[in-house]
Amino acid sequence: MPLGSGAMGEVTAQPRSIGVLEATPPRFTPEEVAAIAADLFGLAGEARDLGSERDQTFLVDDGAEGGVMKISNLGEDPAVLDFEAAALQHVARVDPALPVAPQLRARAGLEHPLRPRHAGPHGRHYIRLFRRMRGRSLRSAELDAWALDEFGATLARLGVALRAFFHPAAGRSLLWDLAYALELRQLAPDIEDGAHRALVGRVLDRYEERVAPAWPRLRAQVIHGDLATDNALFDDRGGVAAVLDFGDLTHSALVADLAVSLGSLLRGRAGDDAFRAARLAIDGYERVTPLEVPERAVLADLVAARLATVVTISAWRVRRYPENAEYIQAWDADSWALLELLDDAGPAEAARLLTGAAARVPTARLAERRRRALGPAITALTYARPVHVDSGRGAWLVEADGGRLLDAYNNVPVVGHCHPRVTEAVVRATRRVNTHARYLYEPLVEVAERLAATMPAASGLDTVMLVNSGSEANDLAWRIALAATGMGGGLVTAHAYHGVTTAIADLSPEEWRDGYRPGHVETFAVGRGLAGALARLAERGHRPAALLVDGGFTSDGMPALAPGWVAAVAAEARDAGALVVADEVQAGHGRLGRHLWSFETNGIVPDVVTMGKPMGNGYPVAAVVTRADLADRLAATTDFFSTFGGNPVAASAALAVLDVIEDERLIAHAGEVGAALVAALDALAARHPALRAPRGRGLLVGADVVGAAAGEPDPGRARAIVDATRERGVLIGLTGPRGHVLKIRPPLAFGLEHVPVLADALDAALAETGG
Ligand code: PMP
Repeated sequence: MPLGSGAMGEVTAQPRSIGVLEATPPRFTPEEVAAIAADLFGLAGEARDLGSERDQTFLVDDGAEGGVMKISNLGEDPAVLDFEAAALQHVARVDPALPVAPQLRARAGLEHPLRPRHAGPHGRHYIRLFRRMRGRSLRSAELDAWALDEFGATLARLGVALRAFFHPAAGRSLLWDLAYALELRQLAPDIEDGAHRALVGRVLDRYEERVAPAWPRLRAQVIHGDLATDNALFDDRGGVAAVLDFGDLTHSALVADLAVSLGSLLRGRAGDDAFRAARLAIDGYERVTPLEVPERAVLADLVAARLATVVTISAWRVRRYPENAEYIQAWDADSWALLELLDDAGPAEAARLLTGAAARVPTARLAERRRRALGPAITALTYARPVHVDSGRGAWLVEADGGRLLDAYNNVPVVGHCHPRVTEAVVRATRRVNTHARYLYEPLVEVAERLAATMPAASGLDTVMLVNSGSEANDLAWRIALAATGMGGGLVTAHAYHGVTTAIADLSPEEWRDGYRPGHVETFAVGRGLAGALARLAERGHRPAALLVDGGFTSDGMPALAPGWVAAVAAEARDAGALVVADEVQAGHGRLGRHLWSFETNGIVPDVVTMGKPMGNGYPVAAVVTRADLADRLAATTDFFSTFGGNPVAASAALAVLDVIEDERLIAHAGEVGAALVAALDALAARHPALRAPRGRGLLVGADVVGAAAGEPDPGRARAIVDATRERGVLIGLTGPRGHVLKIRPPLAFGLEHVPVLADALDAALAETGG
C-alpha cells in the first residue's frame, strides 16, 4: 500500500517526518561520480559506492588524501545541508579533538563552496565532499569493554560539543528522529510477518504510554542522531577514530542519541552480552554526561523504538525500492533478534538489564526476601504494614505504591529528605574523587574546623576525628576515656542507647537482654544523682572512665528534666574522675531548637562530643570532638584510622548539612514548630485521656500512652496507635523503657503546616484504638 492513500483509496495524512525518505535516491555510476568529483572539486580518482539509504555516498580515492562524496537526493533541502555544515564547523571549534570529517570546498566560481550542484537526469543534485577519515570498520560485537565505554564517551562528547549549537533547519522533521516514532504506525502495515507487525505494535504502544508523555521533559538539543558503529571508524585499539555521517542531525531528545547508538552496539550479541554491552556503553556516556532520571526511565523504551524504526522503515522502503533491498535490509535480522530479546524480557526487565536499574518488587515479596536474605538478628521492620519507600522530599516519603507519608519520625534526614544541597554535594564529590584520610583533601579539614568552631569558646574542644556511625563515634569516645583516665567503668542512664559495637552495647542498657549487666557499667535513673551507681561500681572494683549522656534522653522516654540536673550529674561524674561524653547522635544538629548541640541546651561543657545520624542527612558520617590533651592521650595508645571515616564525600555531606541548618535557620524553626506540636498534643490530650503528658524540646517530642482509667503505661495501645497513624499517612515511633512513649522526631524540614496533619492522624488513631 503506497503511503498516503488509505484502503478505500482516500488520501490520508502523510507523516510530516517522511520528507526526504520519499524522494527517489540518486543513482549515479562510479564513473559518473569520478567525473563529478573532478569537475566540482578538482579531485581526480576512482569512485567506490559506500552504500546509503536515501542519498549516494562514494569514496573517491586519488591515491593521496582522497575524499568522501555525498550526492543528495532531489528532495534535499539546502538549508538542511547548511545545517549539517554549520554543525560540523561548530563541533570542530568546541571540541577539536573529536574526530569529525571536515567538509572540503569546491573549486572557485561555483554557486556555493560547500554544496555545488550537478545536473542529473531528473534534476540538479547537491554534491558535498568530506575529508576522508582513516580507520577500520568494526562490528559492534568486535568492541571490547574498553571500546564500548569509549564509544559511549565519544557520543556524549559529541552531545556536549553540540549543546549550544542551533540552526534554523534544526527543527526539521525526520522519521528517523525518535520524536516521530508514533508516525511509524502508518508504515507498519508494510511489515509482512504478522508476529513481527504485532511486536512493533507493542513497542509503539509502550512508547505512546511511557515515552510520549515524558518527551517534553527530556533534555533537548541538536543531536547526531545516528552514531552507529557503521557511522564510525575505529583505531587499532577499538577507539573511535572517525565520526561519520551527520545526515540524521536534528533537534531532538539528547537521550535519543544514546538510544540510537545502543541500538547499534547491541547488534550481533546474544542474550546477556547484549545488555552488558549496553551497560558498558552507558557507563562511558555517563562518564561525560550523567543521565537525568527521566532520561534513564525511557532509555530502554527508546532503544526498542529505535529498533522498531529500523525494521519499519526498512519494510516500507523495500516495497518502494526493491533494487536497494540488500542495503535497506542489512540491519533487519539483527534488529528483529534484538526486538525479540527485549520483548521476551518484558519492558521492565529489559530496562533493568539495560540500565542496571533495580527491579520494582511487590512489598510482600520484598519483605519475604528481606527476611530470608538478612536473617533473624537484623532488626524487624517498623509498623504492622511495612513502609516500602520509593522516594522522599522534605518531610514527605513516597511509598512504592505511590502513597504519601508525612515523616514525623526520622531524624537522620535532618534538613529534609533528599535536600538538594546535600544530595548534590554528595553527587559532585562522588564524581570528583572518593578516597581516604591518608591523603589530603579540603572537605575533611574544612569540616573538622567548622565543627570545632561550633564548640563553646574556651571549651578546648578543638580536635575532630571523623568516623562512620554513631556507634563508632561512641566507641572511639570510650577509648579516649579509657586512655585518658586509666579507669574502666562506665556510667549511663537506665535505659540508654549508645550503639552497637561490643564495647558500646555494654553501655546501652536498652539493648541488654534479661539479666545481662556488665560488671564495669552502672546505670542511674534520669533525674537522680550518681551516688548509688558510683558505689555499686566501686563495690565491683571499678572506677568510672566516662559518663555518656544522650542529650535528648530519648530511649529513656524523653522525661521532663529538672533545671540544672544534667550539669549536676556531669559534675558528680567529673568529681569521680570520669570524662563527660555528650552523645549528640540523637539530639544534636539543632534538634532541640535552641542550640546546635543539646549539651548547650542542657547546660554542660563535655570533654568529648559524639555526633552521627543527622550529620550527613543520610550519608554515613559521624565524628568525635574532643580536646587536644585528650586526643594526645589516645594517640599515646593507638594510631586511629577508619577507612571510610571522613572521606571526601562524607565530609562534603557534613559541610552541606551545616550550611543548610544555618541558611534555613533550622534551629529556631525546630523550636517554633516543636512548641506548636506540643500545643497540638496538649489539645489532643485534653480530649483523649489515654494520651498523657505531651512534652518536648524543639522537634524531639514525646507523650505517654496510658490506660485511661488507672493511668498505667499501655504499650499495646501505643503500638496500635503508631500503626493506625501510619495507616493515616503519618509516621511516628515508640520509645521509653516500657515502650509506651510516642516518639515524634521529624526531619527539621517539618513545618507548622504539617502539625495539623499529624494531629488529625493521631486524633483519629486515638479514637480508633480506644475500643
Ligand atoms: N547514640 C544515640 C543516642 C543513638 O540514638 C544512636 C542510634 N540510634 C547511636 C548512638 C548509634 O548510632 P548508629 O546507629 O549510627 O551507630
